[in-house]
Amino acid sequence: MSRQRLVLFGGTFDPVHIGHLRVALEASEFLQAPVRMIPAREPPHRAPTRAGADQRAALLRAALKGQDRLQLDTRELGRDGPSYSVDTLRDLRDEVGPEPAVVLLIGADAFAGLDRWHRWREMFELAHIGVLTRPGNNGAASPDLQTAIAGRKVKDAAALWEQASGGVVDIPVTALDISASQVRELLATGRCVRYLLPEPLIESPDLLAVYRD
Ligand code: ATP
Repeated sequence: MSRQRLVLFGGTFDPVHIGHLRVALEASEFLQAPVRMIPAREPPHRAPTRAGADQRAALLRAALKGQDRLQLDTRELGRDGPSYSVDTLRDLRDEVGPEPAVVLLIGADAFAGLDRWHRWREMFELAHIGVLTRPGNNGAASPDLQTAIAGRKVKDAAALWEQASGGVVDIPVTALDISASQVRELLATGRCVRYLLPEPLIESPDLLAVYRD
């Protein structure tokens, strides 16, 4: 029997935009598994979000309507304190046990700084890492990180499913130069965000009101 596959994509999603959705979809196709989008309640190491956690989850819920490849997972919203990925992975492992393969998706830029994340070495015991790689410069890993990932790299998704965790795979994705900061700035100054945000958000101006005030 083939191993169950669980794929996680965390972020602040303040708000979710088509850059997030497109890479999540491409990763889902690459891994042949649904992707759980996990909004952080309180992202570590960055300024507070503009929209509250429940508002960001509502935006995601609206954006994900009508398809089931990308799913909303609100497990971080009920947890106090900073939303560390390692805690999220531990939480998921406690729920599903040791057998399923878990893949945490991380943008290549962020992955290059993984050795500054909270309890980062533990993450390899809990999950595989899928590195979302865009054409061009994806950042250089520090020597510590290079040592940690030597021997973990696998060349395709099939090799990942042999184990429940511990592998690192590059997932090539389309570069769409869109950021939530840019979207927030446009909304705050009354500009149009069509084609940067998914259609259901454009059709529900109330959900975006928090960025306009
Ligand atoms: P901000 O502009 O507020 O920093 P952001 O657009 O980078 O936000 P996050 O919620 O911080 O969005 O990102 C969540 C995840 O999505 C991160 O892993 C990030 O690398 C990735 N990501 C963000 N924007 C894109 C994009 N345009 N293409 C691919 N991945 C993206």
